[in-house]
Amino acid sequence: MLALTSTRKRMVDTQIAGRGVCDPLVLDAMRRVPRETFVGPEFEEFAYEDGPLPIGEGQTISQPYIVALMIEAAEVKTGDRVLEVGAGSGYAAAVISRIADRVYAIERYPSLAEAARRRFRELGYNNIDLRVGDGTKGWLEAAPFDAILVSAGGPEAPPALKQQLAIGGRLIIPVAEDERGQTLLKLTRKNEDDYETVDLGAVMFVPLIGEQGWAENDRYPVGNHVAGNDGPRQQPLQALPKMIAEAAEPLPEFDDPAFGRMFDRFADRRVVLLGEASHGTSEFYRARAAITRRLIEAHGFTIVAVEADWPDAEAIDRYVRHRPARAGAEPPFQRFPTWMWCNTDVDAFIGWMRAHNDEVAPVQRAGFYGLDLYNMSASIAAVLGYLDRVDPKAGAVARERYGCLTPWQKEPSTYGRAVLTAGYRKCERTVIEQCRALLERRLDYATKGDESFLDAVQNARLIASAERYYRVMYYGGAESWNLRDTHMFETLEHVMEARGPTCKAVVWAHNSHIGDARFTDMGIREELNVGQLCRERFGHDAALIGFGTHAGTVAAASDWGGEMEVKHVRPSHRDSFERLCHEAGAPRFLLDLRSREPLRQHLLEPRLERFIGVIYRPETELLSHYSRASLPQQFDALTWFDETSAIQPLGPEHARAGVPDTYPFGL
Ligand code: SAM
Repeated sequence: MLALTSTRKRMVDTQIAGRGVCDPLVLDAMRRVPRETFVGPEFEEFAYEDGPLPIGEGQTISQPYIVALMIEAAEVKTGDRVLEVGAGSGYAAAVISRIADRVYAIERYPSLAEAARRRFRELGYNNIDLRVGDGTKGWLEAAPFDAILVSAGGPEAPPALKQQLAIGGRLIIPVAEDERGQTLLKLTRKNEDDYETVDLGAVMFVPLIGEQGWAENDRYPVGNHVAGNDGPRQQPLQALPKMIAEAAEPLPEFDDPAFGRMFDRFADRRVVLLGEASHGTSEFYRARAAITRRLIEAHGFTIVAVEADWPDAEAIDRYVRHRPARAGAEPPFQRFPTWMWCNTDVDAFIGWMRAHNDEVAPVQRAGFYGLDLYNMSASIAAVLGYLDRVDPKAGAVARERYGCLTPWQKEPSTYGRAVLTAGYRKCERTVIEQCRALLERRLDYATKGDESFLDAVQNARLIASAERYYRVMYYGGAESWNLRDTHMFETLEHVMEARGPTCKAVVWAHNSHIGDARFTDMGIREELNVGQLCRERFGHDAALIGFGTHAGTVAAASDWGGEMEVKHVRPSHRDSFERLCHEAGAPRFLLDLRSREPLRQHLLEPRLERFIGVIYRPETELLSHYSRASLPQQFDALTWFDETSAIQPLGPEHARAGVPDTYPFGL
């Protein structure tokens, strides 16, 4: 309990006060109400993460930040009578009850209302009346109210609720804005007939179902979620797109050498990190290839480290550095999402790397390395194959140790669930022992197997990280994300160590890994990433370059493991950075964000930013793909393509004659 009390305090400091809620009454009430009491025991440990959680009946408990934001906006104070519509778990009503005199709460699901009442009783909160019913009609007998908070989104502010406000009273309600989102409105009753309306920003709530809300089987404009709130909407600043247009440096064609030269300003860094706003956009791959070619050719970079699995990238590395293919290795990049690396843009870049490396001495050859940890089964096969070759006895021991993970190799994401539900013994100890055993024999093995020792150790590290990753992934939250990004960063460090003290690296990964997490919503959730870790480790010697687009097409799936589809990217949200760049009017440009005043000052304020991964769900775009970030703090520069197109996946017609079997693109 004590641990949760301090976590609650930290949550209020970082997620609520840290995001601008400053009413001392609200902060104090949030510190007092135990949110863990309002969720099932299985979710207790996540009660202080910044997100909604399931409470039954397909409903969710609201995100703490939005509860605080709404109560502050409603100006709830001592002595007030407050109505909450959509009581759900009862959490928001409980927080309001620590400030106001009396709270009236309405919930349409009897089971949720019953559970909420029980919680109020247990906590001794006896100034809350809760009833089951349609809250869109209000609570006439108890009216007028000093404040009304509606925790579900309707087509408009229900007339009954407006009528039940006291003069001077405040109604806070999410209403449908367009088919993809809602706006949080604050209506203040000025007199009998007049209401002043203030727009508090884009939000995403479950639907308000009732006589003056949506009908039960309406097509709601949003998904069935409460989403992260986007905070108060920025005032449109007409001058900003113009300032961006003035600062924007037009980008030449990709095959024009001038394209790469535009990035010479970052060539003195040890690590140049190149992002992407989606995993399936051709322009992002082609731009990164053009920049990387320049950094390799003209500035001595020898490491290309990408967001791909280590063993798969290793097969490419062998190809581009003219090393023999590993005997018996599985063809790489066969797992979802194959198009990320099996596409015509990557194929062209790999062909270039191989040709370039042919012209230079082996030690100067640029290598292709994978930072990610998903392909655990290929890593296990690689460690065993290596040991069987250099030390068969050690191979037998390793086989025994990795046997613990064997049932889960093909579908490791089920491992976490097995550990949870069946009390399956954890494999952690054995896989760490194996990694340590390899490292301890570093000197013996390294002489035998040159480059392949780094490969084997890195695979063993991957297995140890992956075991923990899959175990904690089941819970979601910051821990599994942090584990993965820390693993990616440490892999980069190991590769740089192996390539020598003066080596320089280019990293290709998604914007969410590259842009400094501390200046995005991720920081609030206590998530870190590769970009942040690189800045902390290399300081000025790391350059973080983001990529963005307004609209076009993208290759993505609808669900994890699904087929690749070419989808239309919706025009960027009106409150996003992307919209500002679009309104700048130039088709493609580089925006250097360092010390360019006053543009930098104006862009500092956090705004929406779009993140598309291997999954794209345009129908719930605001909820699924937008987050907030302070662009000039997140990145040193932004590479912009106003309209973009999907990558083209490789098919059998792209087979190259004479390449080894394991070369993926010959398949
Ligand atoms: N404030 C709640 C909390 O902290 O747990 C949030 C609950 S959830 C976001 C919104 C709730 O509104 C759901 O439990 C849903 O059943 C309820 N709801 C939707 N339409 C309603 C209506 N017309 N009257 C009452 N409750 C409604």
